[in-house]
This record gives sequence, structure tokens and C-alpha cells, in this order.
Amino acid sequence: MMATDTEASAYRGRFAPSPTGLLHLGSLLAALASYLEARSRDGAWLVRMEDLDPPREAPGAAEQIITDLKRFGMQSDEPVIYQSQRQVAYADALSTLREKGLAFDCGCMKRDLPQGKPYPGTCAKGLPEGRQARSVRLRVPDASICIDDRIQGRYCQNPSEGSGAFIIRRADGLTAYQLAVVVDDGAQGITDIVRGADLLSSTPRQCLIQQNLGLPRPSYAHIPVVVDEQGHKLSKQSMAQPVDAADPIPALMACWQVLNQSPQDLNTDRSVDHLLQQMTQYWSLQAIPDRTDCQIAE
Ligand code: GLU
Repeated sequence: MMATDTEASAYRGRFAPSPTGLLHLGSLLAALASYLEARSRDGAWLVRMEDLDPPREAPGAAEQIITDLKRFGMQSDEPVIYQSQRQVAYADALSTLREKGLAFDCGCMKRDLPQGKPYPGTCAKGLPEGRQARSVRLRVPDASICIDDRIQGRYCQNPSEGSGAFIIRRADGLTAYQLAVVVDDGAQGITDIVRGADLLSSTPRQCLIQQNLGLPRPSYAHIPVVVDEQGHKLSKQSMAQPVDAADPIPALMACWQVLNQSPQDLNTDRSVDHLLQQMTQYWSLQAIPDRTDCQIAE
């Protein structure tokens, strides 16, 4: 379903977790920030389950994340979309990119490529003799792509110096995150993306895909990601402690503090819904620190 022009003028935000584990403080932070920004702008807030990569998923995590979000007072305004059911849309996008000559088959294995350097273009003009198609890559221009992030400010990247032509369909046949996220944000008419700053460096590549597919560019706001004392991002894979959805208020207040919101002495004596209403009323995206990581005091 594509958004019409009228729908596109109204705020549509989303939270797009990958069900690789349960909700932890880092993912709750992204859920809450995207939710409060949508609510404070009278917009819609959608949950999209990014269950695109079965080998990395934890059984039952997708349903548990949705249940836990509800206990934190957040519920998708529309039925949750599952990326595992969106293969046709991704295949269509891939065909469009191929037809436009913007994507090409690549027969390289990781070991064929220089480590930490842009893709050298080995298969960009056709598969070399004896190579079989494995993945599909998107061509990149030698030009800077810039975004004006609402929190981090101007961010520019020349993908030909970073990744080079990058993978949009993996050798295992799965759609790469970069393509799926753009196709789905476009199909869901997402106007505003609020998410963790670990994805800032992916954004120029996503903007390139949008441009190639003729999709509008949403506005971006990248919030600091929560890191542990060693500076590592809290992630489901790194076994970050799940948040206690049975006692939601302390975790919500910890997020409120990390997001540098005021006042800090909200009334926490009533329901979660009452707390979220107060948070919506006082919410200020401008108050969020323009740094890419932060720690949460235990
Ligand atoms: N699914 C991604 C993650 O959990 C987030 C994607 C996005 O917000 O664009 O890291």
C-alpha cells in the first residue's frame, strides 16, 4: 500500500525491532523516543517486525516484544507488518533496480575482497569467467550524500569511499536490511524516522536506494545508543539484560533521563498510560543530546 499525497503530509513514525532477543534498555529507548515524537505531533506510530534474518532470531521474541511494548504502554496504531511476509515487495524492488541497471550480480566471496576497503568493482561490469552469481549489489555514485539529521545535524558520506557497491540481496538469498527497510518505510508512508545512532552511517545508503526507487526521503532523528562501561552497544545479541515489563515505570523513567528530558519529577504514582501522557506533554526532541552514545546508570 503506497501512501497518497494527503496521507504523506501527516506524521507517520515507526519502531522497527529485529527479534534477535527481548526488548532491552537500548531498544526501549528507541521505542519510547519514536513513540513520544509521533504522539506529540499527533501522528501515527507503527511497529514493524524486522524478522528478515531467521538464523539470528530468537524463538518467540517477536511476539514477546509486542506484548512487552504493550506493558510499557505502547501499541502499534496499525497491524504489525512482518518483514518475513514481504518477500514479493522486496523482489519487485530488486527487479526495478536491475531493470534500471543500478544493481548487478556479484560472484565474490568475502575472502575474495579486500578487508575494510570499498568493494573494488570486480563484478560491476559482468561476472568474471568462472564466477557464479551469489549476491546482488547496488551501484553507488562517487558523490557525497548528505542528510540533515534533526539531532545529529548534517551528516555526509560518499558511499564509493565507504562501502562501495553494497549488497542488497545476500548470498544466502535473504534481502539485505538496507533494501528491506527502505521498501517498507516507503510502502508504509513513513515520514519520520527516530532510531538509534548506530544506523546513522547506513542512512546515506538508504537515501540512495530511496532515490533509485523514486521514494520520498523521510526526516531522520538519530538518538544516542546505550553502551556498556566498555563502550559496547547494548544489543540483544550481546545479552543485554531484558527490561522488566512487569515493572515498566522505572525503565521508562531511566529512558526519560537518558533522553535528557525534563521535568525529571514526573508523577509516577499512577498508571503507565498516565506517565506516557505526561511524557508526551513535556517531550522535546531538541533536548536530546547530539551524541551518538550514552551510558545508563544502574
Ligand atoms: N531493525 C533494526 C534494528 O533493530 C532497526 C531498523 C531501523 O530502525 O531502521 O536495529
